[in-house]
Amino acid sequence: MTATPGAVGIVLLYPDLLGTYGDSGNATILAQRLRWRGREAEVVTVLSGDPVPESADVYVVGGGEDLPQALAARQLGAGSGNGPLHRAVEGGAAVLAVCAGLQILGTSFVGPDGTRADGLGLLDCVSVQGRGRRAVGELVVEPDPGLDVPVLTGYENHGGVTTLGPGARPAGRVRSGVGNGDGVDGALHGRIVGTYLHGPVLARNPGLADRLLSSVVGPLEALDDADSDVLRAERLAVAASQASPAGPAGRRRRLLARARR
Ligand code: GLN
Repeated sequence: MTATPGAVGIVLLYPDLLGTYGDSGNATILAQRLRWRGREAEVVTVLSGDPVPESADVYVVGGGEDLPQALAARQLGAGSGNGPLHRAVEGGAAVLAVCAGLQILGTSFVGPDGTRADGLGLLDCVSVQGRGRRAVGELVVEPDPGLDVPVLTGYENHGGVTTLGPGARPAGRVRSGVGNGDGVDGALHGRIVGTYLHGPVLARNPGLADRLLSSVVGPLEALDDADSDVLRAERLAVAASQASPAGPAGRRRRLLARARR
């Protein structure tokens, strides 16, 4: 599918619809981590309305607002069980699906008019409108041990909540934030990784990028990720201080609440 024979093909799906939260950066991270190892990688950007190549190695689906999310799902053959992404997954491709992407890959989600919309059915999960406030803020996830990656950090911004069926397992347990809304985040099935983590998630958690890549290209040698380790430590400290009423963020919250009274 790629113009460069031998290159690992990475498809960035519909960034014009699902590009609100910076998730397109995930495709850049995947390609760059291969190049740092002397491998060729090619990112193919597929805009809405364009045909989706079916023989790429990794597909990246990002987050977006409710209407573009529904349009993207329709173009990917939601409800038909037989769209280009279905065929790519059947052919062994890996997929990273973030937030709206996760919801689209599930069985159903909430459409822009508030009613149930068909998803792709590639992940056994259902997303509905959450009852509480929109989930906005830092999200910290203790990953599924099978992923073999350090604690995942990112941010979330969504109104939907997601319930997994028996055919999917969570990407991890929520340490702080909301995630799926029931104590876990995301969904894993085969080579598909779904999560509510933006960041872009692979920039903040390069181990997850390598996990996706190695599922299609085989074992990869380690890279020096000292910079993202520093960022993770900093983000974990912020999340911990937000969780603790005695921390600086807690103090700020109390002062703001007092000023509003
Ligand atoms: N529109 C979806 C929701 O609000 C997804 C949002 C997102 O991708 N950040 O739940």
